[in-house]
Amino acid sequence: MLAARRTSSFTESVIREMTRIAQQHEAVNLAQGFPDFPMPEPMKEAACAAIHGDINQYAVTWGSSALRIAIAEKYRRWYGMEVDHDREVTVTCGATEAMASVFLALIDPGDEVIIIEPFYENYGPDAILAGAHPTFVPLERPNWTLDGERLAKAFTKRTKAIVLNTPHNPTGRVFTRAEMTMIADLCIKHDVWVITDEIYEHIRYAGDHHVMATWPGMRERTVTISGLSKTYSCTGWRLGYAVAPFVQTQAIRKVHDFLTVGAPAPLQAAGAVGMHFDADYYNHMALDYRGRRSLLCDALTEAGFTYSQPEGAYYVLADFSALSDMDDVSFAKWMTEEIGVATVPGSSFYSDRSLGRSLVRFAFCKKYDTLKRAAERLATVRASV
Ligand code: GLN
Repeated sequence: MLAARRTSSFTESVIREMTRIAQQHEAVNLAQGFPDFPMPEPMKEAACAAIHGDINQYAVTWGSSALRIAIAEKYRRWYGMEVDHDREVTVTCGATEAMASVFLALIDPGDEVIIIEPFYENYGPDAILAGAHPTFVPLERPNWTLDGERLAKAFTKRTKAIVLNTPHNPTGRVFTRAEMTMIADLCIKHDVWVITDEIYEHIRYAGDHHVMATWPGMRERTVTISGLSKTYSCTGWRLGYAVAPFVQTQAIRKVHDFLTVGAPAPLQAAGAVGMHFDADYYNHMALDYRGRRSLLCDALTEAGFTYSQPEGAYYVLADFSALSDMDDVSFAKWMTEEIGVATVPGSSFYSDRSLGRSLVRFAFCKKYDTLKRAAERLATVRASV
């Protein structure tokens, strides 16, 4: 029996495929963005305590009240944003499920959704699964800025939403106040939703994190998505959330309920502990990532790659055209097999794959030792290519 047609219009995740190839070749895995260092001890202890305390059955489908209260409290503390934990928060299985549920809850077949590219690979399939028509707006090289005219042209009568990921995977851009205002103005003018992905909100090297929902007139047309995976180094816990006005939250909760019932109950209990950490934790983490960024960036410069230094998130999207004429897929494969460093080919972040032809993405959410090992190997690229 053939699979359903909707599955034929997107491919398997290239990011996760690169992880498998890295394992085959014992390469240092700078492909998939997951930390290879431990998560905070108090959260691990809280998870064990929750399991031993018999919190092992379903939580409320849209999230335990302790976690939703902690989420609302954190929005108030960090961004001065008032969130009603009873009516506006849905806890999901990772930000990934939040994004998919929001697409299914808000987008009708035939609606257009604007996606800024390069983009995190999930948004394309999310749009397709919802029957939406994605339209892509490329960021401008070399600094990955958003061109207002180009963006304005992408809005049509059928545009229902735009996906806004800041800090941005894979470029590391943190969109400026001016860029946010430009997006907000267009969305108000055209009556369009903003669906954000703010999973890297606490991983920044320059500038503040801007929350679109706090922009004037935007709270009622923004769904804010984030999660615990990156902030607390627990990508395997699968805890994310969507904050949206009540009417849309009701739709999101229905989709979420029938997709997954809910996120793991004992981990939700432990997640609430993390959400209450004080500012020291977040400042420390960002500082730590700054060191990891320097280590990788220095190694990339030394090796002959060119790139725009990330302002946030934990990726570098680097151009290798000074080193090789190969296309991105061949170069990434060669790097994994011959150099022993796995990356993600740039084309997997573009709808127009030719735009990523000379790019590969490096993730630096890794132990200093791992990054040093990668740096040693990267130092051999020029002589081997
Ligand atoms: N967000 C991470 C990345 O871009 C992890 C992707 C995944 O495998 N879910 O690499």
